Amino acid sequence: MTQYDFRSDTVTQPTEAMRRAMAQAEVGDDVYGDDPTVNALEEQAAELAGFEAALFTASGTQANLLALMAHCERGDEYLCGQQAHNYKFEGGGAAVLGSIQPQPIDNEPDGSLCLDRLAKAIKPDDIHFARTRLLSLENTIGGQVLPLEYLAQAQAFAFERGLKLHLDGARVFNAAVAQNVPLATIAQHFDSLTICLSKGLAAPVGSLLVGDEALINKARRWRKVLGGGMRQAGVLAAAGQLALTEQVERLAEDHDNARYLAEQLSGLKQVSVERVATNMVFAQCHHPDLKALNTHLLADGCKVSLGQATRLVLHKDLPRTGVDALVASLHAFEQGGAQ
Ligand SMILES: *Cc1c(COP(=O)(O)O)cnc(C)c1O
Repeated sequence: MTQYDFRSDTVTQPTEAMRRAMAQAEVGDDVYGDDPTVNALEEQAAELAGFEAALFTASGTQANLLALMAHCERGDEYLCGQQAHNYKFEGGGAAVLGSIQPQPIDNEPDGSLCLDRLAKAIKPDDIHFARTRLLSLENTIGGQVLPLEYLAQAQAFAFERGLKLHLDGARVFNAAVAQNVPLATIAQHFDSLTICLSKGLAAPVGSLLVGDEALINKARRWRKVLGGGMRQAGVLAAAGQLALTEQVERLAEDHDNARYLAEQLSGLKQVSVERVATNMVFAQCHHPDLKALNTHLLADGCKVSLGQATRLVLHKDLPRTGVDALVASLHAFEQGGAQ
């Protein structure tokens, strides 16, 4: 049975070209800095983003943690959104492992953080308070793209207040493709950013942290401390190189398919689309028996994380036939329920 997996773009399988490149990759001990493929990937990423240096990491969570630990010291704090992945979904790593306090504020409906509210959250220089050091944004966030003017405003805001500015750019290439700009146009507003290779870009493993030389050296040290120093990691980096070349433009198909899915869903009575943004569709599912619906969808080969608010994610391994299969299955379920 064909499986159409709408749960996340993390489920993407590496391409044939990636598997070949992995098998043939020239490798060395990356902890000694000797892996030519890892070095090439790091140079490629730094250049694409317009930065001095980059670091290959095991995951996006690790890359964000390294950014926070490289920007902040023990007793410092970072400003972020309540919905930020690096606050809400990373096990409290900054606090647990970095002794860094998060200061979250509510995200605006478009995913941005209100600069006036951020200003009020910055602590005065006083021994009672943690030292506010860093502002962390996320782009895309819930699929939504932060406008370039907002990034410029956030950069000016951070500069005036002596804060560093980090971007959790797990899906930053979705933003770049949606805005039809090169990565560097987004990256130029930040002191560091992370990029996930293993989501829509389809590499099996890995993320990157990009920054200046000093920041990346510090992060490289913490990566070793956290057990993230890998040896012949070029086997993984080889897939990452193709993620950054062959997979970026293709993301536009996912965005088209998301819009197509949203249109098709509008013909259903029990589903209401709340938002379509880049490769994601958010919908409310009004059917009373979500468990029965889940079983029905699975029988038709569709995997969906069903809930009151359901997120449907488009990706390389979800062609339009998958969208059609899901919509047909939902229609059949509605009709079955009405009998
Ligand atoms: C997936 C994701 C991460 C973490 O990446 P992992 O590789 O799963 O650890 C970080 N930030 C955002 C916004 C993400 O979507």
